[in-house]
Amino acid sequence: MQGERLRSRTLWKDEFSGNLAIFCSDERFAGATIEFLKQYLGMERCDLFVVAGGPAFIAQNEPSLVERLELLIEAHKIKYVALIAHEDCGYYKRCYPDLSQSELKRKQVEDLSSAISLLRQKGILVCSFFALVESDEVVFERLSCCAAEDYQSRGLSSESQK
Ligand SMILES: [Zn+2]
Repeated sequence: MQGERLRSRTLWKDEFSGNLAIFCSDERFAGATIEFLKQYLGMERCDLFVVAGGPAFIAQNEPSLVERLELLIEAHKIKYVALIAHEDCGYYKRCYPDLSQSELKRKQVEDLSSAISLLRQKGILVCSFFALVESDEVVFERLSCCAAEDYQSRGLSSESQK
């Protein structure tokens, strides 16, 4: 309807947390991922870089996306990045149609490692996870941590620390 105005109940906050999460557009994982970022990584607020294949573009060095990522890192002074890949990713299945599920996961983990190295070179703290489905729930497998001291100061917890 023309002129209609809808007001969000989320209060506006004019500041940046320095957090960024990069994950795949796949709606089957998106809701659980956002919950995970808030509940388990303490990212109550974070910038989102959501694109098909998630962090794949970093390892694959896709110029237009890498350029936007760099702009974001600089403009919002990003200090902490969470990278999340997921099983049954349509982007990877399309890129590598001949690979089995376990080979695809290996490729995704390799790409995450490359992305981590590139981001760490910029002095950013990075952690990475692989999301998979288990009994109708999404489970996030930790692949790498950021530095331990940062972990504690952010009040992060993991199953092993409980
Ligand atoms: Zn995907």
